Order: sequence, then C-alpha cells, then structure tokens
Amino acid sequence: MYQDTGKLYVVATPIGNLEDLSLRAQRVLSHVTWVAAEDTRHSKGLLGHLGLATTLISYHEHNEQERTLILIQKLMQGEDGALICDAGTPLISDPGYLLVKKAHENGIPVIPVPGPCAAIAALSASGLATDKFLFEGFLPAKAAARRRRLIELVNYPHTLIFYESPHRLRSMLDDCMDIFLPARKACIAREITKKFESIHLNTLQNIVLQVKNGDIPVKGEFIMMIAGYEIKANPSSEADQEIERILKILLPEMSLKQAVSITTQLIGLSKNVIYDCATKLKNET
Ligand code: SAM
Repeated sequence: MYQDTGKLYVVATPIGNLEDLSLRAQRVLSHVTWVAAEDTRHSKGLLGHLGLATTLISYHEHNEQERTLILIQKLMQGEDGALICDAGTPLISDPGYLLVKKAHENGIPVIPVPGPCAAIAALSASGLATDKFLFEGFLPAKAAARRRRLIELVNYPHTLIFYESPHRLRSMLDDCMDIFLPARKACIAREITKKFESIHLNTLQNIVLQVKNGDIPVKGEFIMMIAGYEIKANPSSEADQEIERILKILLPEMSLKQAVSITTQLIGLSKNVIYDCATKLKNET
C-alpha cells in the first residue's frame, strides 16, 4: 500500500570536526529532495561545505507539530528527506522524535545514517566503565529539581552521562560533589573533536578544583560523566553511612516522613531502620 512513499533518513553530522561526516551521510544529503534541520542557517554552512544546495526546511522544538504534518505529507508523496540537527545525532537531546514516530505510523521507512554523538564519543574516551551506562541528557534547569534528580541517581551502579551548558556547569558540579561525595570518580569532556578538546578523568573534588583554578576553562561544550555507585565489601557499615549521608541531604529540604520514604526507596532497607536514623539526626540538629 505504501510502496511509493519516500524514505526518511536520520543523519548524524559532525560535533565539531567536519571530517567526521561519513561518506554515506554526504551521499544521502546530496540525493534527498529536502533536509529538515534545526537551524537552517547553521546547516546551510554544512551543505555549502559539501557543495550542495539541497532545500532546507526548518524543524525545531517550537514548530515540530506543524512541520511534522508537512514533512509526512511530502514523504507520503514519494519524496525522500533527511533529518539532521545542529551537531551530532538527531533525537539525542535534539528534535525529531515526533517525525520519526509519525513516519513509522504512516508506513514510511526510517533509515538511520549513524555517525557522531557527543555522549558516545565522550564515554568512549572517558576511562569510566562502558559496559552499562545511563544517558541522562540535560538535568532540570532549576536547582531544586536538579538536586532531586541527582539524589535519585546517587546509587545508580553504572556510569552516568550528562549534557550541560557552560553557564550551569559550576553549580551542577557543586551539586554533584555534594550529593555523590568528593571522592566519586568522574570525567569531564570539553570541546570534543574541536581545537580545544580536553578530557579529564579525576575525582569530583579535583574536577571542581580544576574548574575553580582555570585548568578547565568554562567555555565551549561539555559532557559530564560520573562513575556508578560501587557497593563496598562491608555492606552493613556502608549502608549505615549511606543512609546517614542521604538523610543529611534530604532532611533540610523536606519533612521527616518524605525524607524517610525517599531514603527507603533508594537504599531498599527496612523503613524502621531509616526512620530511627532520621529521628536521631533530627534530634541532633
Ligand atoms: N544531538 C547531539 C549529539 O548527538 O551529541 C547533542 C545535542 S545537545 C542539544 C548539545 C549538547 O551536547 C551540548 O550542550 C554538550 O553538552 C554536548 N555536546 C555537543 N557537542 C559537543 C562537543 N563537541 N564537545 C562536548 N560536548 C558536546
């Protein structure tokens, strides 16, 4: 029934170094009828570099509802199109989910053209465990929501990957050190594939120091990775310390009941044990 539809190509583009654009990506971008791009002025530069004048259609978070309908129509009429973003892989903390979903719903073939992705590039060079990981993307912008999310992740046992903008990096690092503790291993990757690329594997405390003393300039693009929580040899005393640590963060922010409930979910021990510890801490303050 849908034999005559076009194809939607989801094309990864460089995150800094134009040499990272694959030959296949170049070929696809040259044969499609149109390219849907987040910022058409930015993408015009990429197409210009390839000597292409393919039609660009703007597709970003503020027009994606309306544009998705138009692009699906074009694909249904037999046009081949490509989706790109400003840098890296579309849909990874970037627009495109709605378009890809609707393409599937309409029987339109969706074809990935893989290539750069900042999170995967950073992880591969981080020196942190790569067997399992959680890609968290951007944390909430508001401090309280950000801290709440970090608290939820404190016991996650595999590497955590965050995108972060330079103007929030310092406060994010302070929260991470507070919540994950200064000795937790972490890696910060800056300006990957660009002139000032640098990748630092260290403790959170030392990374914060390096940022403070200017060894890691807060300019450009960053990825922050944090080692997963390690369960240590002596579980009972570790667990006690962990309960106390989490409660000390939560109690000033919320009621005793809420703090006990969240800590119970995080630690997975009896509520009574956690309640006793919380009342003891509350009485000490
Ligand atoms: N879709 C992209 C991808 O596949 O990586 C990510 C887009 S997201 C809107 C932008 C964020 O990715 C930046 O704030 C930064 O955290 C990260 N990023 C992108 N390019 C980077 C680079 N060259 N070096 C370090 N981080 C980068």
